[in-house]
Amino acid sequence: LRKLDSPLSDDREKKLRKLLDRYREQLLPNAERLAELEKEFQAQLRAGLAKSVAVDGKHMMMLPTFVTRLPDGTETGECFALDLGGTNFRVMYVRLGAGKGEVAECDVEEVTLPQEVYTGPGDKLFDFLASTLKNFIDRHTATRAAETAAATGAHEAALPDPVVGFCFSFAVEQSGIASGKLLEWTKNFTCPGVVGNDPVALLSAALQRAGRPCRVAALLNDTVGVLAAQRYLDSDTEVGVILGTGTNACYVEKLSALSKWRAPAGSGASGRTAVNSEWGAFFSPALPRCLEDLAVDAASFNPGKYLFEKLLAGMHLGEIARRMLLTIAREVPGLFVASPKDAEAAAHAAASTEPGPVPPPKPLPSKLLTPGSLPTASLAAIAEDGSWQLLATRGRLSRELGCHWPSKRAADVAKEVCTLVARRSAVLAAMALLAMLRHTGWAAEQPPRPVTIAFDGGVYEKFGAYRKMIQDALAEQLGDQAAELAPLIRHTLSHDGSALGAAVLAAAAVAEADAPHP
Ligand code: BGC
Ligand code: MG
Repeated sequence: LRKLDSPLSDDREKKLRKLLDRYREQLLPNAERLAELEKEFQAQLRAGLAKSVAVDGKHMMMLPTFVTRLPDGTETGECFALDLGGTNFRVMYVRLGAGKGEVAECDVEEVTLPQEVYTGPGDKLFDFLASTLKNFIDRHTATRAAETAAATGAHEAALPDPVVGFCFSFAVEQSGIASGKLLEWTKNFTCPGVVGNDPVALLSAALQRAGRPCRVAALLNDTVGVLAAQRYLDSDTEVGVILGTGTNACYVEKLSALSKWRAPAGSGASGRTAVNSEWGAFFSPALPRCLEDLAVDAASFNPGKYLFEKLLAGMHLGEIARRMLLTIAREVPGLFVASPKDAEAAAHAAASTEPGPVPPPKPLPSKLLTPGSLPTASLAAIAEDGSWQLLATRGRLSRELGCHWPSKRAADVAKEVCTLVARRSAVLAAMALLAMLRHTGWAAEQPPRPVTIAFDGGVYEKFGAYRKMIQDALAEQLGDQAAELAPLIRHTLSHDGSALGAAVLAAAAVAEADAPHP
């Protein structure tokens, strides 16, 4: 072990430090740069509230959600929810309690979407969603019909179509609470035949084909679901954030500030509404990016678009770190080398070296050269590694990236790179959150009042060090106001919030539509 752990030669160590310094400088914006970013973020936000902006993946679209009555916990009823997020999708049954913000019953099933479904024809995607929902509903209805029959001796009565809330986690321009058109795919979804169309119409048609017509009563973004679910429990909730495969936030805005939109007549608008920012599409030349970010963008299915998302979201964090580690491996030979068993690497090295007096450089691990080989879950584990001598990270680098048993120094470097990539994401998320809160006037209110930010998504949920980074970044960026305001910001994880929020909004929409109008 000691032999393998021999320190790098002075010149390689020097080179390594220089590289790491450069990455730190490129990825972590200083206070001045953050202030500039916040200003641009707010300018884009205001522009998007005032008029429709170009759908070019470089502007926040500030999409009206048609949610004019925010949940307050009095919603009741039962319904199903369909939550199409990123990598997986969920179906849920929810019965809302009659009491304040109570969920009386909830059952959820999660399904992983096969790649051919999220890249194949749109009709097939919706058929897949519809048949999963149908099976789930059928199971529930069968159980309940049996219960009713047992209790009353009665035969199955004709039930109305089940109510469904549809959480569709993409940029949608809504035309009503249950209709709209998809503006852009993100998160590697590419199904043709959906952009420009109404997801509710496509789902309803697929449910018809499946023989299980439903009443799709609400269509919403996942951020709106998270906001609604948390607000059902906690009326201080002003922002809903997703930090998962993709990233985005929505917040509560004054109707008067969303000047490009008019609430539908008779909608009982309460003066405030939720706005889906689509912050993943924010762009500014001041964003802190390195060459590896440009490479990740160029290799993506939507180059030049959603560049903010590409610095923050789980779909990209691991891959950015992998590319940085590869750069380091190339510039500092001997730090990450292929294991002797890495036949592919050895063959590659043999083919590319001329016979000569200089010994050929040690080949790089072939997995380190392979896009996608460092998942964001591994980045999180490395960034959080507290094991003795970083043995956990060293094991991971050897197992997952095919490195020959790495030195402690190599593991230090991996940990630093993974932490840096995660920290940038957290710092930028904090910048955007504060930009929103300050835009609403919260930071200037007297007396200051508590505000709840509801979060969901795998990066936030499964990466504890990352949650801490967001809190630290928020406190730091609050500057002089930190002591007063940071303790007033409540961060809550709204697990499964998007599906729950879909159910709450669907129940509310049905109650509203079925209420006798004077
Ligand atoms: C989508 C958003 C969504 C976010 C989080 C982004 O790629 O454009 O609509 O809210 O991912 O799921
Ligand atoms: Mg989700």
